[in-house]
Amino acid sequence: MENILSIKNLSVSLSGKRGIVPILHNISLEVEQGHILGIVGESGSGKSMTAFAINQLLPGGRKSIVDGSISFCGEDLTEKTEKEMTKFRGKEIAMIFQEPMTCLNPVFTIGRQMKDVIMTHQKKSSKEAEKQAEEMLEKVHIRNPNRVLSCYPYELSGGMRQRVMIAIALSCSPKLLIADEPTTALDVTIQAQIIFLIKEACKATGTGVIFISHDLGVVSQLCDTIAVMYSGQIVEVGRAADVLAHPQHPYTKALLASVPSFTPREDGNDTLSAIPGMVPDPLEVITGCRFAPRCSYAMDICHKKVPPLQIFADGYSLHCHLQKEVEN
Ligand code: SF4
Repeated sequence: MENILSIKNLSVSLSGKRGIVPILHNISLEVEQGHILGIVGESGSGKSMTAFAINQLLPGGRKSIVDGSISFCGEDLTEKTEKEMTKFRGKEIAMIFQEPMTCLNPVFTIGRQMKDVIMTHQKKSSKEAEKQAEEMLEKVHIRNPNRVLSCYPYELSGGMRQRVMIAIALSCSPKLLIADEPTTALDVTIQAQIIFLIKEACKATGTGVIFISHDLGVVSQLCDTIAVMYSGQIVEVGRAADVLAHPQHPYTKALLASVPSFTPREDGNDTLSAIPGMVPDPLEVITGCRFAPRCSYAMDICHKKVPPLQIFADGYSLHCHLQKEVEN
């Protein structure tokens, strides 16, 4: 499969009142056509900042200090001007967020907003755009698309608004869809429907997806590959089944151990574990592993040296001083 996105050694620092704040450290990621990459981690781990960096929408705009490359279909987005980026955003790279109301304009109907997006990126008449808007709503399984086109956002439920956002995002057949916690505000049954829609759309059109979530349960249902982020770094990447069944990094293990389970554990211990401490302040100078103060496996070397990147077969990699356990 062809790579749509290839991020290499991306580091980002934001310039603000607190000075230069490093927020992403040496990130490398790839997304193939028709594949879904999940990015997981606690709040403050840098998941959303990675998405903003891809879209060149970092807080502080051009004042941000960016090192490394973000190659999208062979073009380095870090070298694009603001005007050039407008050709990518919405058309080639679409985004959906946790709260659709922050993206939908409350004073225009859904139909008007969908038509605007379609006509901005495609040479279509108003009538053609309306027809396409209706078809897109049908594709996301909205039963009465004509009625929904005439509604204002406040007249729809949260789940319906998120379906509309997916329809808008997919209306220009993007090569890459970035979904930033799109199911977090929804109840479980609606979450499942939205996950199904994203999966269906991705597999049908070959759109690559980056699905950002703190919920490992959601990610396990949807993603082909998982990247685990901690404090602005990627600590473990691999096929979803491998990372979830045989996590190697102590942070991934701790994240998985903190997921509530309906079935009793083999060791009989049903206490829900939590990761002690907090994600460090980005300005905190840490000489070794950034997870060391919270890691139950930490050794002397972890506090002194940055862990090496260990690369294995099938795109699996690990940032840790511990060696990968050999699976039977
Ligand atoms: Fe823990 Fe050391 Fe690995 Fe960091 S490098 S995760 S402190 S074992």
